[in-house]
Amino acid sequence: MGLNKKSVDDINVKGLRVLCRCDFNVPLVNGKITDENRLVAALPTIKKLIADGGKVILCSHLGKVKTEEDKKTKTLAPVAVRLSELLGQEVKFAADAEVVGANARAAVEAMKDGDVILLENTRFRAEETKNGEAFSKDLASIADAFVNDAFGTAHRAHCSNVGVAECLRAEGKPAVVGYLMQKEIDFLGKAVEEPVRPFVAILGGAKVADKLNVVENLLEKCDTLIIGGGMAYTFVKAQGYNVGNSLLDESKVEYCKEMMEKAEKLGKKILLPVDSVTIAHFPDPIDAPIDDATTVDIKEIPDDREACDIGPASAELFAEAVKSAKTVVWNGPMGLFENPTLAVGTKTVAEALAQTDATTIIGGGDSAAAVNQMGLGDKMSHISTGGGASLEFLEGKKLPGIEAADEK
Ligand code: AMP
Repeated sequence: MGLNKKSVDDINVKGLRVLCRCDFNVPLVNGKITDENRLVAALPTIKKLIADGGKVILCSHLGKVKTEEDKKTKTLAPVAVRLSELLGQEVKFAADAEVVGANARAAVEAMKDGDVILLENTRFRAEETKNGEAFSKDLASIADAFVNDAFGTAHRAHCSNVGVAECLRAEGKPAVVGYLMQKEIDFLGKAVEEPVRPFVAILGGAKVADKLNVVENLLEKCDTLIIGGGMAYTFVKAQGYNVGNSLLDESKVEYCKEMMEKAEKLGKKILLPVDSVTIAHFPDPIDAPIDDATTVDIKEIPDDREACDIGPASAELFAEAVKSAKTVVWNGPMGLFENPTLAVGTKTVAEALAQTDATTIIGGGDSAAAVNQMGLGDKMSHISTGGGASLEFLEGKKLPGIEAADEK
């Protein structure tokens, strides 16, 4: 899959202007950063570039910028302040409505080796998300080397991760990946392309339609595919059972049948729930108390009830499969984990992953939130920082943000 990419360890940035694309897309409330994990995660690459004597020019997007009003609330200025504190050295904010306009150019011009500046939100330029040439060229014009450390946007081809890399390559300048990106490639790439076996993949979450390609790709790569969460009930229907009011995508029943046949042909196991926790009414709000949760055999889901978590026998079955695995990849909760009554299945699976010696990889999004919420984050080998990007990785797709980096 062409994942042998050059990293910051493979280039010498002494005296060079290094443009480093980070993921500083942090939550901001009234200009205050409410979760700085993404800033902390970016530090190793930034410190390495400083230590090597680069002129470090950081850039990132922040949220969606659609109106002029958005530009007031989506400025990266607060990030520069907090980054300065975290790094223990000034990160100068290059305020500039054009991102790379006169102000930013002057700031770059004034840099000394080891200095750090942060450009304004890349989405202040409308061309950014269209990978437009003018902005890519502007970015390339202030850089002698490019480092991409933003996995969360790797599935998108934008100016600040793909266009700029292509412009620089055309000029014979390096475009490499940072440590965070390298870690994602090492874990997700290796798990999917050359897993230590047995390789167990666990899929959950709401919609089967969102994960059709993931099911198909993982079925080819893994030894056992576990399917829980709302998406499992289209498979249960394909097995010929009633699913009551559970989540169901009628248009995908045939697809699920094909996948089960394919598994049989390939000699792979698909594990589906054998029992479920059902409720009469969807909780509102989502964490409202539930007093009628009932566990039923998967063949006996009543017409008027909705299966919202895997039952204890399924949780046990799934946990047992995890025990003998050497590699586990998990994407999507086993039930409505936002409600404590319906979080048990997800928790049991998370604990099974926490206890195994296998390489355990959490594919971002809700499963990452669930694992962290349960305090088991540090028991996993790797928690991906990109929800959409990690799903596309698991689909076997090439991610433009990774592809754009130089091969070793
Ligand atoms: P996804 O974004 O596809 O990973 O789906 C995550 C969402 O699926 C979470 O908000 C869960 O509450 C929801 N979910 C998981 N299992 C079920 C289920 N059995 N019924 C309804 N929603 C579910």
